[in-house]
Amino acid sequence: MLLTNGRIYTMETADTAGAVVDTLVLRDGRVAFAGRRGDVNAAAGEPEIDLGGRAVLPGLVDAHGHLMYLARARLSLDVGGLGSEESVARLVGTAAARARPGEWLGGRGWDQNVWPGRLFPTRASLDREAPRHPVALVRVDGHATWCNSAALHAAGITRDTADPGGGIVVRDARGEPTGLLIDAAQRLVQRAEPLPSEERFDQAVRDAIAQCLVTGLTGIHEMGATLFALASYRRLIERGQFPFRNYVAVAGRSEETWDYYRERGPEVIGDGLVTVGALKLLSDGALGSRGAALHSPYCDDPENRGLLLIPSEELGRLTEDALARDFQVCVHAIGDRANTLTLDAFERALARRPEARALRPRVEHAQILAEEDIPRFRALGVLPSMQPTHCTSDMEWAVERLGPDRLKGAYAWRSLLDTGVVIPGGSDFPVESPNPFHGIYAAVARRPLSGEARDWQPEQRMTREEAVRAFTSWNAYASHQEAALGSLTAGKRADLIVCSDDVFTCAEERIAGIAPVLTLIGGEIVHRGDRSPV
Ligand SMILES: [Zn+2]
Repeated sequence: MLLTNGRIYTMETADTAGAVVDTLVLRDGRVAFAGRRGDVNAAAGEPEIDLGGRAVLPGLVDAHGHLMYLARARLSLDVGGLGSEESVARLVGTAAARARPGEWLGGRGWDQNVWPGRLFPTRASLDREAPRHPVALVRVDGHATWCNSAALHAAGITRDTADPGGGIVVRDARGEPTGLLIDAAQRLVQRAEPLPSEERFDQAVRDAIAQCLVTGLTGIHEMGATLFALASYRRLIERGQFPFRNYVAVAGRSEETWDYYRERGPEVIGDGLVTVGALKLLSDGALGSRGAALHSPYCDDPENRGLLLIPSEELGRLTEDALARDFQVCVHAIGDRANTLTLDAFERALARRPEARALRPRVEHAQILAEEDIPRFRALGVLPSMQPTHCTSDMEWAVERLGPDRLKGAYAWRSLLDTGVVIPGGSDFPVESPNPFHGIYAAVARRPLSGEARDWQPEQRMTREEAVRAFTSWNAYASHQEAALGSLTAGKRADLIVCSDDVFTCAEERIAGIAPVLTLIGGEIVHRGDRSPV
C-alpha cells in the first residue's frame, strides 16, 4: 500500500518539523519506505491512497489503560456523571426491577466529589432501592466499592470482619459496615461477585477495542491483567478478532496470574499483538478516596495519611523477584510518601542488581512528588508514567486534599522533563476517557476540556511535541518496543492514524476534538472514520 500526499510526522528525530514526509510505502505489516513521492519506484504498483494533505501520526498508545476493566464496565451499570447519591441509587433501582431475582448488579463510575456535600455514600440508599439484589458499585478511580447489604452478606462482611492489610471496611459510629470498601477491602466483595461468561466477556473486549480505535489509539499498556482476561485475548487473537496492541503488566494482586507468569516468564501472543512483559504492583490508594499515602496528613482529614497497600520490604522483595525473572516492574504510586517508598524500593533493588536498570522500572501515576524525589527518577533510570487528564479532572478538589504547598509537586510534568526523563502518557481508562487527544490537550493546555483558564501551574505544561511523544515514541520506549513502534520509518510496524486535523498546527482548543479518519495496525485498516480517504 502506498499512502501519499500527506503531512506525515514520522516522529523519528528530535526535530519534529524536520521529520515530515509526504509518502509511506507499507509492506508485510511494516513501513517499507518513508520519504518523498518522487523517490518511490513507481513500477512497484502498490495500491495508492491519496491522503489529501492530511496529517498522519504514528498510532497513539495509552501507557496506562485497563482494557479488562473497560470490557467489564461495558457489562455493568454506568453510574458515572450522576449528580447525587440518590440519583445513582434510583438508577440501580430501575436496573433491579429488570434483573432476575438475586442477580448481581455491578456498576462503575460514581464520584462523590461531584455530589453536593462530597460525602461518601452508604448502603442505606441502595438497600431502599434494591434490597434483594447484591449491588457493588466501583468508584470512578477503581479504589473504592460501594455495596448494599445483600452484597455485604454475600461476601460475608459483618461488623466482626477485620480490615485486610491495605484496605478499610468503613464503619459507622456503632461499628457496623457502611457498605463502603476502600482499596484492598474491595477484594472481599470481588471474590463473591460472579465473573461474566467467556462469550459475553469476549464480546465486551471486542467492543472495548472498537471504543479505543475510534479515538486514535492503536494500542495500550494494560496495567494489571488477569489470566481470565488474557485467556480472552488469546481466543480473540486466534479468531482474528483482536485488532489492537496490548503490552500487558500482569496484575500482581491476582496471585494466580503472577504465580503463572513468574514461572513462565514474559510472553508474546499473536504477531506482536499482546506482549506480556511487566508486573503491576500497587503501593497506595488514590487521592479521591483519600487512600493515596502522604508524608503529612490530608488537609481535609487531619488524622489520615492514606493507605500503604504493600509493606515497604514486601514491595522491595516482589520488585527484585520480578526483575530477576526479566519482568519490567510498574508500581502504582500516587501520594508523595508512596512515591518516596517506591523509589527507595527501586533504589535498593537496582543496587543489588544493576543490570535490571535495562528493564526500565516505572512508577505509575507519580502524581504527588516531594521536591527532593523529582531528580531521583532520572538518577535511577525510573520512568514516571503519567496521565495528563487526571490533572485536569482532579485539580478542582485536589487543593482541598493537599493544600497549596504540596500542589507544587502535583502532576509536575515540566519539573520532571527538565531533569531529562521521558514521561509515558496515558489515561487510566476507564477512570478517564480513553481518548488520547484529550490527554494531549490536557498536557499542553493544563485546562479542563471546557477550556476555562484556571491557575493550575501553567508552568508545568508540555509542548505539543512532548505531548505527542508522550503518546507515541516515549511509550514505545517505556514498553521496550522502540525498535518496532512509536515512529514511522522503514522497518517499523505500520501502525498509524490519518487525522481529522493537524495536532501540531491547529488552534489549541481544537486538539481535544481531533479524531482518526483512518487507522492502520500492522498495515491493515482497522478503523474508518468520517471523511476516510478509502
Ligand atoms: Zn490504573
